[in-house]
Amino acid sequence: MALAIELQEVQKSFPLESGTFVAVQEATFAVGEKEFVTLVGPSGCGKSTVLRMVAGLVEPTRGEVRVLGEPPAYCRSKRLFGFVAQDPVLLPWRNILGNVCLPLEVAGRLDKITVNKAKGLLSLVGLEGFEGARPRQLSGGMKQRAAIARALVLEPSILLLDEPFGALDEITRQKMNLELLRIWSQTEAAALLVTHSIAEAAFLSDRVIVMSNRPGRIKASIEIELPRPRTVDMLRTKEFFDYTNLITDALFRGEEGAVQ
Ligand code: ADP
Ligand code: MG
Repeated sequence: MALAIELQEVQKSFPLESGTFVAVQEATFAVGEKEFVTLVGPSGCGKSTVLRMVAGLVEPTRGEVRVLGEPPAYCRSKRLFGFVAQDPVLLPWRNILGNVCLPLEVAGRLDKITVNKAKGLLSLVGLEGFEGARPRQLSGGMKQRAAIARALVLEPSILLLDEPFGALDEITRQKMNLELLRIWSQTEAAALLVTHSIAEAAFLSDRVIVMSNRPGRIKASIEIELPRPRTVDMLRTKEFFDYTNLITDALFRGEEGAVQ
């Protein structure tokens, strides 16, 4: 399988007044084409930093990142990434369609065909009829749906999601996870998602990469062989429970103060 994302011995340090702080120790992993991979780890372990290095927003201190065989900066310039963050950051003065069309405008690709595609995406994410609404008229979940539509409007090859539903309540979050999988399955994109939720990681992914506490290292890579499409009923199966246990074990293995 061709590789969508490849990290080779990637390290990231940040300068401190009293020396340097190693945020990501040594990350080596890959994401295949059309694969859904989740990075899971405790707060502050370097998950967002890894994602930002993949997106070409942060340069690694050491090691190499390749996206579709190219440097991330190149892929950025070709607009091959769709990025969804925890906070949807929609422009308040633009309506929802205007927000979703923003990447098209910036890329100089706004025309009748692409606007129609944006409208199609809004209905795909369940926001049909809200094209003219302002962000403040939408709930948190709806805003995040709009952010997903915006991330998909340039048909990215790589979808990067940084705790996209972290600010939502548990029920909305589970619904959004189902929606995300439904939407993703209709694209050709590889997905790399960051979360600190073990259940979310197991539910969404083809593979879960477990990161250690500071400094962030890759502790385990766990294949999730649950069939797709994933359903809520799977959350109650022994297989699902076994996977969440595997992830939990990997997360706490060798950690000081681990719960026994
Ligand atoms: P996570 O997403 O897993 O919560 P982050 O990748 O955001 O973790 O951060 C990992 C560590 O690196 C944190 O301790 C954070 O304070 C530090 N860090 C992240 N970005 C910077 C930066 N630009 N300058 C200094 N330290 C940073
Ligand atoms: Mg983060």
